[in-house]
Amino acid sequence: MFAKVIVDVPTYHVDRAFDYVVPAHLQTLIEVGSRVKVPFGRRPVLGFVIALTTDSDVPANKLKSIATLMDLEPVLTPELLALAQWLKQQTICFQIDALQAMLPSALRAKYEKAVDVLVAPASLPSDLQPFVRNNDKMHYQELEKANMLPLVKKEVQRGHLRITTKVKQRGNVKRIRYVKIGTAAEIERALTKVSTRAKKQQALLAWCKAHSDELVLPRDIDASAAVLNQIIAHGAATYVEKEVYRDPFTQPIKKTAPLTLTTAQQRAKDALQLDEAGTYLLHGVTGSGKTEVYLQAIQQVIDAGKQAIMLVPEIALTPQMTERFRGRFGERVAVMHSGLSSGEKFDEWRKITQQEVQVVVGARSAIFAPFTNVGIIILDEEHEATYKQEDAPRYHARDVAIWRSEFHQCPVILGSATPSLESYARAKKGVYTLLTLEERAMNQPLPSVEVVDMRDELRSGNRSMFSVSLLEEMQAALARQEQIVLFLNRRGYSSFVMCRDCGTVVQCQNCDISLTYHRNQEKLRCHYCGYEASVPKTCSTCASDRIRYFGTGTQKVEEAIYQHFPSARVLRMDVDTTRKKGAHEQILGAFGRKEADILLGTQMIAKGLDFPNITVVGVLSADTSLHLPDFRASEKTFQLLTQVSGRAGRHEKLGRVVVQTYTPTHYAITLAQQQAYVPFYEQEMRYRQRAGYPPYFFIALIQVTHTDVLQAGHYAQLAASWLRQQLPSVHIIGPTASAISRLQNRYRYQCLIKYKIEPNLIPTLHRLLAMYRADWQKQGVQLTVDLDPSMI
Ligand code: ADP
Ligand code: ZN
Ligand code: ZN
Repeated sequence: MFAKVIVDVPTYHVDRAFDYVVPAHLQTLIEVGSRVKVPFGRRPVLGFVIALTTDSDVPANKLKSIATLMDLEPVLTPELLALAQWLKQQTICFQIDALQAMLPSALRAKYEKAVDVLVAPASLPSDLQPFVRNNDKMHYQELEKANMLPLVKKEVQRGHLRITTKVKQRGNVKRIRYVKIGTAAEIERALTKVSTRAKKQQALLAWCKAHSDELVLPRDIDASAAVLNQIIAHGAATYVEKEVYRDPFTQPIKKTAPLTLTTAQQRAKDALQLDEAGTYLLHGVTGSGKTEVYLQAIQQVIDAGKQAIMLVPEIALTPQMTERFRGRFGERVAVMHSGLSSGEKFDEWRKITQQEVQVVVGARSAIFAPFTNVGIIILDEEHEATYKQEDAPRYHARDVAIWRSEFHQCPVILGSATPSLESYARAKKGVYTLLTLEERAMNQPLPSVEVVDMRDELRSGNRSMFSVSLLEEMQAALARQEQIVLFLNRRGYSSFVMCRDCGTVVQCQNCDISLTYHRNQEKLRCHYCGYEASVPKTCSTCASDRIRYFGTGTQKVEEAIYQHFPSARVLRMDVDTTRKKGAHEQILGAFGRKEADILLGTQMIAKGLDFPNITVVGVLSADTSLHLPDFRASEKTFQLLTQVSGRAGRHEKLGRVVVQTYTPTHYAITLAQQQAYVPFYEQEMRYRQRAGYPPYFFIALIQVTHTDVLQAGHYAQLAASWLRQQLPSVHIIGPTASAISRLQNRYRYQCLIKYKIEPNLIPTLHRLLAMYRADWQKQGVQLTVDLDPSMI
């Protein structure tokens, strides 16, 4: 018996299956989809069995044997193996990357297997009985050593034994390092040891005196790590580690019953053909009750004994969202999101493989849920860019959903208030079935949106970041004890630091990008590579000391709010306040309980907020996303404004939205104001056609990077000319420097390929990658190919 194995060595030369002999003792155990350890070169590597055969073309003396079988039960289904093959082809990745992407990361970490005995030990085969411990456990390794696994496998299939896997949870129990400030006496003693000239140590010790016996985070201490370590060496403080516990999974969930569908919802649900493959675009305004349609369609699917995959963008995967599913389907739901530790994710994945649940709610990668009888796949907020993975395999969850729906002969629903142009165009062409919900579920009017021209505000002498209208609305809402959401597409206190005399902006050392000022740490930080610097006192170019902070960040807005409304209670939600696990939920929870009047945040708050008491939404600067160097800038701005506006007045109370902008006549803004999706679609389509962008053309992005700028340019040029030669009828733009021309000390060039139907494209790109892997890679070049990139 032979196995075809994909090994975990991602290089071009090995991106194919290798034949291995299956030793006799594994022949009854091994299955397609199992993981194995095989000798490869000089070391054993991990591999996936993708086929079992009775013969091999490789001469017998060249064949090696499988060393270890890692799974008694396969980890991948035949469907997922086929899908990996397709992903390799379509997204131009290594097959091993596609296979790994389908599995929870915990399977790559260390874990222990144990065997649970589910019956009286006496009813097990007599050979196994000596292995039973405490009447209900067996050691997997003992069984393995004694060659008992074939018997074990039979008993597992009979339901007498169960193999359990315990992930050694490195990431699970989280530990945080604190600094325990010493007692007053300890600090005094340290003071005697420190020279009076060591000003920084003296200052820190003085601070410690005021905080003796306290437990603080290192980042809350206003001193460098070096100074801190010095005073620790003098005994004035110590490091202590503490475990932090996750918030347990919210309260018991209230069971909910299906709502009576509105006529429009019923019509949409009736249009779904549940036993054939087909893609539906559910276009429903915010609050139109799309989720209720999903819930009832899923109910029908699980009643028919099938399973459902529900995808939600990561940032919309709030407890509020998951509770709607748990409330309806209870324990039949698995939830997968990045807030879970790898051990917890693994547990959810096990529930799916064991068919203990019928519904999975999760972010992008949940599209690979190993269900074997899928009855429906839903992507909510289908326009979200996060459905596209940015690293290999660079897949779009929508494409994978459609592939799986064809495999299982089941429908895919793409839902959105602002569908991507691509999807809406396909629906108009009849490739997808268009379903529309034009009104809000409870007939609430859409909020009225006022657009304020900030240039007028300035002219009339208002230098505040709030327009007069917005201030009035906020004032009124606070007086009515209603809640306000303020939306700002920025983070940090000020976006960047600039010299007012010569215009020099402080840049990252490693990247061609300006550093962002973070006020609470008094630090400049690169959002791309994490580089940190302190704020310069003088300009590095002209030595001027007229350094100024530019741009407006959430912290600065928070201060401005307090100036106008000193007694308002403000919650801020941005990358800084949500770095800690669970912080997201905490902030939203507090806002939901009305512990604050104003929620201020970045795009994180645009999604999924559904609180009855929000009546005013303010967009502080609608222009920020409009001027990004991206052909989707208008589309993203329209989507964002529509989504944010949709947070207001979702229940009984009417909502008001104020959008502040310097370009009040831009169609993305005026049409978002009217919530007029179709006119926006039509206008944007004309622009895309003129400019030759999707959905009229497909695009592929080739990116070439190198630590040497000349080499980067040279290889980008090589790639471009080679592609022009191979694909004479295709439009190839570039090479040009990327929008961020240097990142982490690598210079970046790119070529853009625009194409319609080009059967040669994918084979040609495969050959380009082969050339790169065989040759260029050794020269320090990195080349990536991204079909349908979400940003260019
Ligand atoms: P969407 O997902 O389209 O933004 P939701 O599903 O969140 O909309 O629905 C908006 C609100 O309307 C929710 O509070 C929901 O409970 C309510 N709702 C939805 N469908 C119905 C219905 N058929 N009857 C009563 N209320 C409904
Ligand atoms: Zn200067
Ligand atoms: Zn950087």
